[in-house]
Amino acid sequence: MRIDFLTLFPDSCNAVLGESIIGRARERGILDFHFHQIRDYTENRQKQVDDYPYGGGMGMVMNAQPIADCYRAVCDELGHRPHLIYLSPQGKTLTQQRARELAALPEICLLCGHYEGVDERVLEAFVDEQISIGDYVLTGGELPAMVLADCVSRMIPGVLSDEVCFTEESHFSSLLEYPQYTRPAVWEGREVPPVLLSGHHENITKWRREQSLLRTLKHRPDLLEHAELTPKEQVFLEEQRRHND
Ligand code: SAM
Repeated sequence: MRIDFLTLFPDSCNAVLGESIIGRARERGILDFHFHQIRDYTENRQKQVDDYPYGGGMGMVMNAQPIADCYRAVCDELGHRPHLIYLSPQGKTLTQQRARELAALPEICLLCGHYEGVDERVLEAFVDEQISIGDYVLTGGELPAMVLADCVSRMIPGVLSDEVCFTEESHFSSLLEYPQYTRPAVWEGREVPPVLLSGHHENITKWRREQSLLRTLKHRPDLLEHAELTPKEQVFLEEQRRHND
């Protein structure tokens, strides 16, 4: 998959996304990331990318022209328009489901805003979708773009060692993952649940599913509305709810 980043901080994004699992997938050519400096597309000698807001008010607004030309350069290189996402606190909140859908696209392009944001007209002209990473405001779109890129990338075949690595994780099927343990079997007096040491795969799977349901009920009951549950699991959860009341 190809991801293009339109940003004022290409080196920072490249450095962060050059590490660990994502970095190795890039080295292996499974992920193809391109970082574009919006400032390189300015038409003024100072290479200024922002200006005062019309109507007054605090802060600066990013100009439409360098962003538009930066995006057009990506379009020219690809020979078509990639799906352009503007990272914005005003967008729809990122979910695992949306990330999964985006992972099915051959390429996406991520626009990172800064200052007070971006001239609305460039958003109207080019942006296909706005995505927020949560109901809070950050200084720039680079962290949200990296969050989105990481989340989408790990669902690309070959990035993780096995698909199960993400299909069993929290949020994939609207449940939180079961608790995880590794060696030693006893740490500072705390024991690993005995079932995990039993080698009995059926019991382990049953225990994990139960833990997953209990965790979701405890920490994110809202998710259960969308989870696929067997009638037996629904009864189990009903009993737990009654027990907790
Ligand atoms: N003035 C804007 C508003 O009130 O909606 C906020 C601008 S914010 C300080 C600067 C940039 O950070 C935005 O253009 C956006 O790219 C990014 N950003 C901030 N918070 C974000 C969030 N929760 N999700 C995604 N992007 C965010």
